[in-house]
Amino acid sequence: MILPSSAENELARLAELDRYAILDTPPEEAFDDVAKLAASLCEVPVALITLVDATRTWFKAGVGVDGMTHTPREISFCTHTIAQRDVCIVPDTLVDPRFVDNLLVQSVPGIRFYAGVPLTTAEGLNLGALCVLDRKPRALTEAQFTALRTLARQVMVQLELRREIAERRKAERELDGFFEVSIDLLCIASYDGYFTRLNPAFEDVLGYSLDELVSTPFLLLVHPDDRASTRTEMESLREGRTTIHFENRYLRKDGAIRWIAWTASPAPDEELIYAAGRDITRAKAAESELRRSEARTRSILDNALGSLVAMDEQGVIESVNPAAERTFGCSAGTLIGRSFDLLVEAPAFEQLRDAGRGRMTVCRGRRRSGELFTCEISMFEFYASDQQRHFAAHILDVSERHEVERMKTDFISTVNHELRTPLTSIVGSLGLLASGVMGELPEDARPMVTVAERNSVRLISLIDDILDFEKLECGKMEMTLQPASLRRLLERATASVSTLAVRHGVAIELGGVDAVAIVDEVRIAQVAANLLSNAVKYSQRGGTVKVTTSLADGWADVRVEDHGQGIAAALQAKLFQSFERVDSSDARTEPGTGLGLAICKAIVEQHHGTIGVESREGEGSMFWFRIRAVEMSAIIPLSAMFPRT
Ligand code: ADP
Repeated sequence: MILPSSAENELARLAELDRYAILDTPPEEAFDDVAKLAASLCEVPVALITLVDATRTWFKAGVGVDGMTHTPREISFCTHTIAQRDVCIVPDTLVDPRFVDNLLVQSVPGIRFYAGVPLTTAEGLNLGALCVLDRKPRALTEAQFTALRTLARQVMVQLELRREIAERRKAERELDGFFEVSIDLLCIASYDGYFTRLNPAFEDVLGYSLDELVSTPFLLLVHPDDRASTRTEMESLREGRTTIHFENRYLRKDGAIRWIAWTASPAPDEELIYAAGRDITRAKAAESELRRSEARTRSILDNALGSLVAMDEQGVIESVNPAAERTFGCSAGTLIGRSFDLLVEAPAFEQLRDAGRGRMTVCRGRRRSGELFTCEISMFEFYASDQQRHFAAHILDVSERHEVERMKTDFISTVNHELRTPLTSIVGSLGLLASGVMGELPEDARPMVTVAERNSVRLISLIDDILDFEKLECGKMEMTLQPASLRRLLERATASVSTLAVRHGVAIELGGVDAVAIVDEVRIAQVAANLLSNAVKYSQRGGTVKVTTSLADGWADVRVEDHGQGIAAALQAKLFQSFERVDSSDARTEPGTGLGLAICKAIVEQHHGTIGVESREGEGSMFWFRIRAVEMSAIIPLSAMFPRT
């Protein structure tokens, strides 16, 4: 058997044959006609168009073969033909040296002559042959060979055509597949404004059936506000331009809006537009949310009173907000790209970056004019989208606040010295006058002196409250802690309000256990006195205020209870805030500042204690505070520790 020139070549040949998709297809007139023409031109009874696959020589068309469709390759003459470049002639099978010994060929009945022209592709691969056969030995004329070669070329033309058709169909099938499964919108639209073909993604995105979509001018599906721009884009496509990116809004059947981004190109000859669209509604929503949030952040930064300066790891300024421009007297353009150290005289950027992160540092800022000012800087670190470390400084110009604080301190010391000191001597003098030590006062003068003394005392306590409050506010109230008997402390507080109690006709009862607390005696007595004076002030004449102490689990509870007017529940929580009074317009209101309870709270909290109130309007109030304390017996007297021998 004649082998193809190489096994590799045979593989390529078979692969190529496969691409023509011709094997085992039904007869076709065009090929039958060629076979008939070959038989008649060569004056032979048999003519074939064959294709040689791995095992057989298959007949695409045949004359005089009596329904035979193929022969095994072993007995096929065409196997020889496809191994050569030109025509293969076997004038007489009985004498041809290639077949004399081939019993199989000899067994083919009645064939003595064969002439075959290979069917050669452009790449030079032989797919099969156009051959003529006879039952007697013979020869062909030169003209007949020429005719055979011409017809073989025609067969190849037909095969090429078939293949191109087959290939296009395959491509179309593939395209249809993509068309069907694409989640993007794919469509063909005609110049007259209708979709001619749409993929199923349209149904999902727009909620209409494909039938509804192809029967509606697509401009009607576009959001009214986007119709003009869509028309302009269509115009541009009709003029032959391609749409690279165009966005418009479509109205879904349920009324919802879908944003679609399009690419499209025109086919002017067919008056069609091929377009692909993507539903970008979510991306749009995310984008506008991002824009909104950026605008929010920007407006926060723009309106922030504090300066914000962002910089890289080396302190090179990257952005500043308007407050920074105002504070330092420089435009953003001037600041960006320069060193943060230009803005702050001390400490240096590196120091703030490495040691000052996450806390506030008091620094000296420098304005463009060269003026230095006190500022508070808190530095924080962040990672921007470039994955690099960046830093931002929040800078607060506190020069004015410092000035105000200084003025306040001056004012307070003025109040203390210039107001309280003389007032103390006025109270002392009035007390002496009222007591009669300086001689009997005239009858008419006595009540006046008493009123003057009482009001001076009130003024002093008001000044004391303000001074205390100020001290507590700026943490300047010093506490001297030492063990103290709670009972003795409460007795002293009771004594300090006794005059007030007498004046109001209110009795004070002291009860409960004694205990030892480590406290600043003066300040805790002040708390008790304040609660007592309130209880007295807001009790009915003839009423009783009870002070009791109890001890449990290392805590002492001191309760000051009255049966006065009580306090509405809604107001109770606010009582301990500074300047908070129940109702200053209330007729029952006693003179006061609303600072007393706030001071009490601060003092108790400095002792790590708590303070509170339980009250019912019309029934009375019970103010209490709780501080750490132990039983009297827990204190070992010195005499017990060092007994006399
Ligand atoms: P003030 O100097 O006004 O007494 P406080 O802070 O001591 O300031 O008290 C705040 C307010 O709480 C008082 O103005 C009063 O309205 C109310 N208050 C305090 N104690 C009592 C009480 N025992 N009974 C009723 N109201 C009270």
